[in-house]
Amino acid sequence: MCVKVFVLIAHGRQLVKYIKLKEVDKEENVVMRIIEEAGNKGILNKDIRDQSGLNLTTINKILKALEGKNLIKSVLSISVAKIKVYMLFDLQPDRSVTGGSWYTDGEFESELVDIMNQQCYRMLQQKAEAAKLKAMDGPLIVRNASFLSSKEICQMISDMNIVKFNLTVEEIEAILETLVYDGKIEMRMVSDGDERIKTYRIVETLLSSAAIVRIPCGVCPVIEKCGTTGEVQPKNCAYYDQWLD
Ligand code: SF4
Repeated sequence: MCVKVFVLIAHGRQLVKYIKLKEVDKEENVVMRIIEEAGNKGILNKDIRDQSGLNLTTINKILKALEGKNLIKSVLSISVAKIKVYMLFDLQPDRSVTGGSWYTDGEFESELVDIMNQQCYRMLQQKAEAAKLKAMDGPLIVRNASFLSSKEICQMISDMNIVKFNLTVEEIEAILETLVYDGKIEMRMVSDGDERIKTYRIVETLLSSAAIVRIPCGVCPVIEKCGTTGEVQPKNCAYYDQWLD
């Protein structure tokens, strides 16, 4: 689109907005100003009422009229229990309102988050596998080579075109954090110049978490009698023999 056409369209929009604003009455104008001040975080119906001193019926009528003129819009806010907040029509809602990429119309995208979760884990697994090829250089080198930064993971996922929107590093870090809480990966802060960045690697356990949960001592009927002396000792424990089999 050439610059002149773009400028004309922009001016046209401004003109339409100006005409609509001329149609706004005094009370609507008060509400418009309150909503404008709230910016892209929006404002609740209740707060508009408190600030304007107008009653609920009047506010609802005004909000409907302003929405009808496309001067304001309502957005479901995930930060206030999925209640509508109002903001100027042209504004892009703040991420704290929409929840970012992991929410659509206020609904948590659990399937997408699962896919991203698996993808991040797979990338870290592949990185760890590649790092093992450096085994000759020593365990520290292998360990250091198995880390990926959240920035790198974000870039790799963007390159894979799994999602059609732009992911932020913070959104990827939120996914990685769930893996850290699950004990599947670990996080390490490192310095990159003046910047502190988050790096991640998978946690390799000798036993699966399911196996750890089933450790016989946790449900042992004779745990009180078990010790380094006496009849019941770990070294001759039948429960352990069964578990290790
Ligand atoms: S070592 Fe064996 S006997 Fe002792 S507490 Fe554990 S399961 Fe029970």
